[in-house]
Amino acid sequence: MSFKTVLGHEKSIRWLKQAILQKRVVHSYLFWGNEGIGKKYVALQFAKVLNCLDKGWEKGDACDSCVSCKKIDQSLHPDVLVLEPEGQTLKVDQVREMQKDLAYRPYEGRYRVIILSAADRMAPQMSNTLLKTLEEPPLHTILILIANHPRGMLPTILSRCHSIPFSPLPTSLVVRWLVEKKKINENEASLLALLSEGSPGKALEIKEEIEQIAREDLLKQWVGVKSFTLGEIERFIDSLPSQRQGLLLILEISKSLLRDLIMTKISKDFSEWIHPDLSGVYKAIVSQWDFTSLFHRLETLQETTRAIQKNANTRLALETMMLSWVEG
Ligand SMILES: [Zn+2]
Repeated sequence: MSFKTVLGHEKSIRWLKQAILQKRVVHSYLFWGNEGIGKKYVALQFAKVLNCLDKGWEKGDACDSCVSCKKIDQSLHPDVLVLEPEGQTLKVDQVREMQKDLAYRPYEGRYRVIILSAADRMAPQMSNTLLKTLEEPPLHTILILIANHPRGMLPTILSRCHSIPFSPLPTSLVVRWLVEKKKINENEASLLALLSEGSPGKALEIKEEIEQIAREDLLKQWVGVKSFTLGEIERFIDSLPSQRQGLLLILEISKSLLRDLIMTKISKDFSEWIHPDLSGVYKAIVSQWDFTSLFHRLETLQETTRAIQKNANTRLALETMMLSWVEG
C-alpha cells in the first residue's frame, strides 16, 4: 500500500507528492469528496511517505516494507492517529485527548499525522477546540481533516486548511477494482459500480444492501409475474420504499433481474449472471416469457427510473409502467 496502490485520484496525489518533494508540506489539510472514495486511504499513504524510513519523502512514495510503513498499515504507529466519530459526530473529548499528545514531539516518526474523519460532522464546541490547534500548529504535526463536503464547516477552520478535492472515480475503474480486488463477477460489479456514484466504498455497502433485499420475492411477485389486477398493482406499489433512494435501488435490482431472465433464454452459463443464486427461479419462470415482453419490461423500467430520477410523481410513474406491462 503506497501512493502507487491508490485507485484513481491522480491529481490529488500529484499535489501531495509535489508538496513532499518540494518540502512544502503544510500543517493542515482538508481532504473532501464523496463518502467511500478513498480519502482516508490516501491520507494514510501520505502519512507513510512522510515517515517512511527508506526516505519516502525524497522519493515521493512509501517503500511499504520498512518498520514505519508496516506499523502504519497495521494501525500500530504511535504517531499516526485516526479519529473516528463516536456515534454520529466527533466528540470534543476525542479532540482534547488528541491535543494532549500534541504537547510532545512525535514518539518515533518524523511527523505526527492526525487524521480526523467526519470533520464536517463536528459538534460546534469541538470546532472551537480544533481551531486552537489549527491556529498554533505544533511542530512536526500534520492534521488531515476528512469531509464529504466543506459545506457546514466553519470558515475559520476552512481558511486554515489546504483544501484537496477528491473526485468520484470513473465507473470503469470501480468495476475493475471490484472484479480484481473483491473477486466480484463482472456483471454484478457493473451494477454495483453504476449505483456507487464513483465510490468503491459505497459499491461495497450497496452490495450488502442488495443482499438484504428479498430479490427472490421481487422476481416472483413482480418482475417475473405476467399480469396483475389493479388491486395488486396498488398493493405492490404500497410495499415499495417511499424514500426515493431506496426505491431507485429496488428499480435497479429489478432491471438486473430482468436482464438475468433475458440471459436465461439465451445461454445456460450462469457464471455470467448478476444473481447466479437465483438460477433455479429463473429457469422455473422463463418458459412463460418471450423476448419481446421481457425487453418491453426492461425498457419501460428504464424509462420509469429516469422519470423518477428527474423527480416525476413516483406513484403515477409506477402505475403507468405496470399498466403498460399488463397490456404489453
Ligand atoms: Zn517505508
